[in-house]
Order: sequence, then C-alpha cells, then structure tokens
Amino acid sequence: MRDELDKALVKDFPDLFAQRYMPMSTTCMCWGMEHGDGWEPLVREMCGRISLLLASELGARAEFSQIKEKYGTLRVYIDCWCSAKLNEKIEGVIDEIEERSAEVCEVCSATPAKLKARGGWYRTLCPQCEKTS
Ligand SMILES: [Zn+2]
Repeated sequence: MRDELDKALVKDFPDLFAQRYMPMSTTCMCWGMEHGDGWEPLVREMCGRISLLLASELGARAEFSQIKEKYGTLRVYIDCWCSAKLNEKIEGVIDEIEERSAEVCEVCSATPAKLKARGGWYRTLCPQCEKTS
C-alpha cells in the first residue's frame, strides 16, 4: 500500500500498529501493509471496530503482526492480550473483513469486484481495473 496511506493508519491506530516499525526479526509488520491501496477502507474499518472492542475490556490489547494479500484476498494476523471471549469477537471482525476483500477491488476500492486467477496469480479486481492492469 502507498506510503502515505500506511502512515496515516499507523498514526490513527498507534496501539494496533505498535509492531509497524519493529525489526523483521520480531514481526512481519515491518514490511507494512502488503496489499493494494483499494483495501485501505477495509483495513481502516477493521481497525475502528477492533479498537471499539478493545475499549470494552479493561487492559485488553492487540497488535497486528502481519497484514498482506494472499491468493487474492486480505490476510490479517494479530497478537491479542485479552479474554478468550473478546479474542473470538476480534477474530470474527477479521474473518468478515478478509471475506469481504474478495468483493472489493484491491486497486481502486470499487465494488463489486471479483476474485480471479490470472496466469498463476490471484487478484480481486473490478471490471475497469481488470482491463487496465
Ligand atoms: Zn478497480
């Protein structure tokens, strides 16, 4: 994802992105968000919803350890320090966002987009971006 979008998310959700500038020996988050700009709104929505969930439990904390594109959809890994119940809710939000990424264009955020195989690669693209990229 474009540097300025990446930086803005880290700035808006500093606790969730606490690993963003840690060394690669510690976390895959050092690579930043490894997906197209089109999924920024999905990631931002996910961050907002997880922040709200964390605020509902005293001392609960979570940090992303990796956010990337894999086989054409979004994959999110998170380290959680919270109750099992809250952890389940957070994983539920992540599952939903990952699933929805298969219908949102990774390049321009347009919907509907389709997950398609192209020469051994999988990508989720809208009809317009499929023509031009
Ligand atoms: Zn598109």
